Amino acid sequence: MAPGDQPDQHDQRATDRTLLDRHRAVLPTWLALYYQEPIEVVSASGRRVTDANGTVYLDFFAGILTNAIGYDIPEISDAIRRQVDTGVLHTSTLYLIRSQVELAERIAELSGIPDAKVFFTNSGTEANETALMLATQYRRSNQVLTLRNSYHGRAFATIGVTGNRGWAASSLSPVRVSHVHGGYRYRSPFRDLSDADYIAACVADLRDVLATSTAGDVACLIAEPIQGVGGFIVPPDGLFGAMKEVLDEHGILLVSDEVQTGWGRTGEHFWGIQAHGVTPDAMTFAKGLGNGMAIGGVVARAEVMDAITANSISTFGGNPVATTAARATLDYLLDHDLQANADRLGRRLLDGLRALVDRHPVVGEVRGKGLMIGIELVEPGTTTPSQAAAASLLEHTRTRGLLVGKGGMRNNVIRLAPPMTLTQEEADEGLAILTEAIAATDKELS
Ligand code: PLP
Repeated sequence: MAPGDQPDQHDQRATDRTLLDRHRAVLPTWLALYYQEPIEVVSASGRRVTDANGTVYLDFFAGILTNAIGYDIPEISDAIRRQVDTGVLHTSTLYLIRSQVELAERIAELSGIPDAKVFFTNSGTEANETALMLATQYRRSNQVLTLRNSYHGRAFATIGVTGNRGWAASSLSPVRVSHVHGGYRYRSPFRDLSDADYIAACVADLRDVLATSTAGDVACLIAEPIQGVGGFIVPPDGLFGAMKEVLDEHGILLVSDEVQTGWGRTGEHFWGIQAHGVTPDAMTFAKGLGNGMAIGGVVARAEVMDAITANSISTFGGNPVATTAARATLDYLLDHDLQANADRLGRRLLDGLRALVDRHPVVGEVRGKGLMIGIELVEPGTTTPSQAAAASLLEHTRTRGLLVGKGGMRNNVIRLAPPMTLTQEEADEGLAILTEAIAATDKELS
C-alpha cells in the first residue's frame, strides 16, 4: 500500500486481528492446527522452513510428508516453470497429456503389478475413494476389511473405512466395514507375542472376522503397510503376505495404501508392501509424489481398473503441472537413490532414539522404518498413553527449532518423517534437539 493510501474496509478488519483469529473465524473448527501458537511458513529451502517472524526450523515432517525431497529444489521448480511458461496450467483432462501418460508408464512399471494401469487424482483421499469404488465394483460387494487404527482419508467411503476414532469424522458410511488386527501390537492383546506368533494371531483374527462379521463376499482389504496417522505403526515383515493367503482363498483383493509409505521412504523398499513379499491388486499414492504439488492416484491390475465401464474423469487429476512436478520428483528420487539415504539415516535416528527409551520413562516405545519413526509417549513408568507428554514434546521441539508431527489413536505419538534428502549432519542436529526435548518433557511429566 502506498503511503497515504487508506486501507479498504477489508484490509482494516484484517490488520486488526491476528491471522490465527481470522483463520478461526472463517475456517472449520475441526481443521487440525499444530502448536499453541501455530506458525505461518513464508519461505523454505533444503530441509528448513522460515516462519513469518523470521524463525528458521528444521522440518522433520516434510510438510505432511508432502515435500519428499525437501524445499526449493531447482530441478523441480525449473520443470514446473517450463510447464507454466507454455501457458498451459490446465486445459482439459479430456485431451491427451504427455506428462500424464509418461508418469503413468513410470508408475505402472515401478509398481511391480503385472499389466498395471494408473488413474490420477488430486489427493490421497480421492485415490482411496477410487480404489474402493474399483474393488467394490469388481467384486460386486460393498463389504470392506480394514485395519484397526487405520486412516484412509476424509471423504464418505474413506472416512467409513478409517479405524481411528480421532479422525473418523462421520460414522455413516456407504461401505460395510469390518476391522481386523494388523500392526499395532503395542496396544493389542498380542503385545508380548513374537513376530511369528503375532502374524499367526492376526491371520486367525482375519479368518474369524471373515467367518463371523461378514457375509463372505468381501471386496477388499485396504491397509497401510505402516500406519501413518495411526502413529507410524510398523507390523512385522511378512504379515500382509500371510494375510493375503487368506484373502486369496476368498478372492478378496488387497489394496495397499501407500500414501505415506511410497517412493522409498521406508528405506528397505520402494513400496511399503514389498516388505511383506506380496504383490497387491492395487496401490494408492499421493503426498510426496509431486513434492508439494497436489497429486495422487491408483495403480491397479488392468482387470480391476477397468471394472468400471461408465465414463469417468477427474477434472484436475493428472493435470500437466502436477504430473510434470511428479515426473521431476520421481527422477530426482531415483537418480539420487534417496531410498538408500532414507534407510541409512532412518537407522541412525532409530538407534539414537531407542537409546532414550530406558533413560526416559515417558517414552513407551520407539519404532519405525526408514524415515518414518514414531515415539510413543506414556505416563512415566506405565504403558498408559499420554497426550500431555506428546503435546509437551511438540512444543519443546518447536521452541528448539525442530518441526515434527503428532498422531496415534490416542494422540500420544510424535512422528518423524524428514525429507528424504536429509543429510547426516541434519539427522544428528534433529536427534540432539529431540534428546534435549524428550528430557524436558520427561522432567515436566515425572
Ligand atoms: N491415506 C493415508 C495413509 C494418509 O496418511 C492420508 C493422509 O494423511 C490419506 C490417505 C488422505 O490423503 P489426503 O489428505 O491427501 O486426502
